[in-house]
Amino acid sequence: MTIADANQISDRIVAAVHNDDDIEDILDALVVVFTFFVSTLDCPHCRKQAIRALKLSLAGMLTRANAAAARRVAPGERAQTCH
Ligand SMILES: [Zn+2]
Repeated sequence: MTIADANQISDRIVAAVHNDDDIEDILDALVVVFTFFVSTLDCPHCRKQAIRALKLSLAGMLTRANAAAARRVAPGERAQTCH
């Protein structure tokens, strides 16, 4: 699996999501999908490694998500917060 392979699959997943789907529902669904595919790994060590890899990616995920969100905010506008 290459990054290009992963990007092609993620593009197909994003294309399957509808614009009017609730973002929290989408995030919950992605967790369900991740869990399902981890469960399809035959080896328990590989399942554990997949979960460990997800944990390790979380800090970088927040950094990339914040950067992507900042790019969507128009210059001079403040990012919207709900808390
Ligand atoms: Zn294994």
